[in-house]
Amino acid sequence: MDIKYSLKRSRKRKKTISLQIGNNSEVTIYAPYYTPVKEINRFVEEKESWIDKAIRRQAALQVSPQEKSYVTGENFYYLGQLYPLEAYFEPLENAGVIFWNRRFFLNCPANAEMKKHYFISWYRKKALQYLTERVDFFGSMLNLKSGGVRISAASKRWGSCSEDNHLSFSFRLMMAPPEVVDYVVVHELMHIREKNHSSKFWDLVVEVVPDYQAHRRWLREHQHYFNL
Ligand SMILES: [Zn+2]
Repeated sequence: MDIKYSLKRSRKRKKTISLQIGNNSEVTIYAPYYTPVKEINRFVEEKESWIDKAIRRQAALQVSPQEKSYVTGENFYYLGQLYPLEAYFEPLENAGVIFWNRRFFLNCPANAEMKKHYFISWYRKKALQYLTERVDFFGSMLNLKSGGVRISAASKRWGSCSEDNHLSFSFRLMMAPPEVVDYVVVHELMHIREKNHSSKFWDLVVEVVPDYQAHRRWLREHQHYFNL
């Protein structure tokens, strides 16, 4: 038998053996005080495939966190840091999202779609401001002229560069740390020069962002937190 468990015997428990799976996949068996080990092991053996399945289901949940529920205390990423939300509804004030004093404030009726909409428009607005500024900064530093900046809602494609050098960035990029955002900006700007991912392209990127691989990794490892 492969399943490791900790055993809690109880004098109060009458007949049944039960089990619990904790947050870190630890298995706890609760048994009446005088239950023989043999019987406990048989119980665990019988439940083995069920336990296995439950542990795997739990691990999958940790990799792909659920959608946001926009409740007070929930955290949201902004430029690589998590900030808590305060959700309320005050009909006499403007509805929408405000970021103030390291906190998100959401004034909105109890409607999940509306709350999501307000958050997305907040991120979009920030993204257009912030990314236009970074594109201008690196554009003049590298002497690369973009055809303009657009904001998309893509969930895996952080940025793109069109034939006529329009740069698109996902609003979700505003959840990543500044150095990661800068890497994506430099990446797309370099496509003005090289419209492919050849080694020549990566040579240009690495000159400006020597540790770009760490930033790519960060995006791969965190993208599933950027659902709204
Ligand atoms: Zn690219």
